[in-house]
Amino acid sequence: MNVQYKPKRNLLGTIFQVEILQGMALTLRKLFSPPITRQYPEEKPPMYPGFRGQHALVRDPLTQESKCIGCMRCATICPSRCIHIRCEKDTRGKEVLQSYSIEALRCVFCGFCVEVCPVGAITMTEVFEYASYDRESLYFNKDALLKNWDKFLDESGHGEDYVNPFWRPRGLPEAELPAAQRMKVPEDWTIAGQFIGTNLRSPKQKITDTHTEEDHA
Ligand code: SF4
Ligand code: SF4
Repeated sequence: MNVQYKPKRNLLGTIFQVEILQGMALTLRKLFSPPITRQYPEEKPPMYPGFRGQHALVRDPLTQESKCIGCMRCATICPSRCIHIRCEKDTRGKEVLQSYSIEALRCVFCGFCVEVCPVGAITMTEVFEYASYDRESLYFNKDALLKNWDKFLDESGHGEDYVNPFWRPRGLPEAELPAAQRMKVPEDWTIAGQFIGTNLRSPKQKITDTHTEEDHA
């Protein structure tokens, strides 16, 4: 074991208590340096596309109803089993969505449900402030999920045809993606640019979209 002994203090150091003066100088310096903490909730952190926030059911701009076709893919892939869907056949034998709910407290925010949806009906918004004092309000039923979508559009300023280009299965050629996930993808949005985290990005790769390294820090 490598034992390190404190260096012996000399007489002057003992008389003038140099360490105390050094500590006070440091405190004084920090007193006048700009704060490095964010004054939340007055100052909100910037959000970036791909943030796994509050779920929402996307409203179809034509019908103003949910775009969900009740295919059950999201409920099937969900590792937490926190998506519950009920469909019923209408008079023409077509499946019609009766209820859709997500238990947000059981969700692990993996985003699989969003990636797998063939029509872009479920999304994860950039809303992160939805703490609550009761469990019921975090059990999002269909109406609540549609309201989450309205609120997200209101606050973010996106149009009702907004599609988050981040939520696409990665590594698939563009042509193999469902139509809903091919929409609104910026031209400079490369697959490499979607990788977040140093494990997935080689040192030579740079984020090519509008987000900087600082945004992801
Ligand atoms: S984000 Fe993951 S855990 Fe949460 S509802 Fe979707 S699939 Fe389930
Ligand atoms: S994957 Fe999409 S369309 Fe299918 S049930 Fe889920 S939200 Fe609805």
